[in-house]
Amino acid sequence: MELLVATKNKGKVREIADLLAPCGIKVVSLLDCGPMPEIVEDGLTFRANAAKKAVVIAQHTGKLVMGEDSGLAVDALDGRPGVYSARYSGDDATDEKNNDKLLLELADVPHEKRTARYHSAIALADKDRLIDVVEGTCEGVITTERRGTNGFGYDPLFLIPAHQKTFGELPLAVKQTMSHRANALRLFLKLLERYLAASQAI
Ligand code: IMP
Repeated sequence: MELLVATKNKGKVREIADLLAPCGIKVVSLLDCGPMPEIVEDGLTFRANAAKKAVVIAQHTGKLVMGEDSGLAVDALDGRPGVYSARYSGDDATDEKNNDKLLLELADVPHEKRTARYHSAIALADKDRLIDVVEGTCEGVITTERRGTNGFGYDPLFLIPAHQKTFGELPLAVKQTMSHRANALRLFLKLLERYLAASQAI
């Protein structure tokens, strides 16, 4: 089957497609589509934004759609940048600028207080309704300098204590066993299975 993912983020698309391929699900994204409605990410939670992405694109296309919203919550910053992770450094934000800002804001914070977690909320919607939203997290520590070039976003600064390596250093195959997105996707697959079984029963 084919699933439309309501994102243009290439890093997310790569990870989602890689995890769903073994289940026989082909992922297409907004990068493969023509013009789509603009989605204003004004929700106060990952959940609300994920639901909005899925519903807006499902209503517009009539297809079954996955919406994913994710971000980084840093304990020393009271959970920031949170839902604003993509735009942390302003309207012209890039991964580079966001990472620079994070390092600056944590400049005086000692190692033991640099704990953080990634969040991912994944919603499923069809043309008629929001089916449900599932969530996953991944615990880490923010480093004092960039390490590695794998992944995207804050990955060069996100250290996995068990490996003493950042997601920038770890191979994608390792990130895919433990990331917030992988954890949410495991629950999403169960949700999708239930939805498809119920649709066939009608
Ligand atoms: P969204 O498109 O509004 O969900 O923005 C998600 C933002 O959170 C990304 O642009 C990244 O800055 C950050 N983010 C989410 N997931 C990851 C990840 O797996 N690695 C690194 N950064 C991430």
